[in-house]
Amino acid sequence: MSQDFNDPSIKDPRPTSPVVPIKLGLDDSIQFRCRKGIACFNKCCQNINIMLTPYDILRLKNRLGLTSAEFLEKHTTTFEMDAHGMPGIRMKTKSGTAECQFLTPEGCGVYEDRPAACRYYALGVTTMRAVGSASPEEFYFVVKEEHCLGHDEPRTLTVREYRQEQGVDQYDEMSKVWREIILKKRSSGPTVGKPSQKSMDLFYLASYDLDNFRVFIASPFFHDVYDIEPALFQKLLTDDVELMNFATRYLKQVLFGENSIPEKPDAFEKRKKRREEIMAKQREQMKKEMERDIDLPE
Ligand code: SF4
Ligand code: SF4
Repeated sequence: MSQDFNDPSIKDPRPTSPVVPIKLGLDDSIQFRCRKGIACFNKCCQNINIMLTPYDILRLKNRLGLTSAEFLEKHTTTFEMDAHGMPGIRMKTKSGTAECQFLTPEGCGVYEDRPAACRYYALGVTTMRAVGSASPEEFYFVVKEEHCLGHDEPRTLTVREYRQEQGVDQYDEMSKVWREIILKKRSSGPTVGKPSQKSMDLFYLASYDLDNFRVFIASPFFHDVYDIEPALFQKLLTDDVELMNFATRYLKQVLFGENSIPEKPDAFEKRKKRREEIMAKQREQMKKEMERDIDLPE
């Protein structure tokens, strides 16, 4: 069933936006078709503002044959997703323009691996938790921008069919737990206080910089603390999707105390000992540097 925001008793929160203020469910129909040869071809990719999910980054960095750090450096910028400074990732545009860097005269240069936001267009989706409801509700709406002629094409299909056609289901499934983490972090609000820089850095590493997260889980520090089965550990070394799913489990554990990765019984002592060793090394290094500075001739 659709909710019509034209009802005068319901206030449209964005009266000037291109959002068609009709709430759609999976079985509601839309009229839309995008095709090569349409007069507006590529117009939608000339003014972009696209936020990337961990799965978007994984698909794009593998397509381009880059490490996650190389992809992030070359093709993205960071921004703060909320007042707490949760880091988000946006696609860079071509220098001096708002045009997508992957746009070619023939269309999208990374089409098979294009981000979820590109697959959704010209649909929007939002998740809301009604007061008193245990689970959030997802609903859709049409985004009708003036330049987009796809809305005039004579084709109707349901939201469910459009999602299938665009491969959105897989992308949503892969991002589901990560999105829940963001929602939970946001809704935890000021009672929990501002997250530490360390937890923000961990969020960035486990969410976006997957190749360096792999280096982290292979480090002695990680093995001192967590008890990972050898078979799972081997998978994490080679399988990006497995690693991404493990990264969200890890984030839930360190951010919310939702423990699903077993810790070693002597984890606390080992961690303390390793920190002490590191600090002793740092002190030794500083002492050597100070002695060297004192010995330097005037
Ligand atoms: S990734 Fe492809 S579909 Fe998405 S904005 Fe860029 S060119 Fe367009
Ligand atoms: S129909 Fe819309 S989505 Fe398709 S190319 Fe034109 S502007 Fe882009």
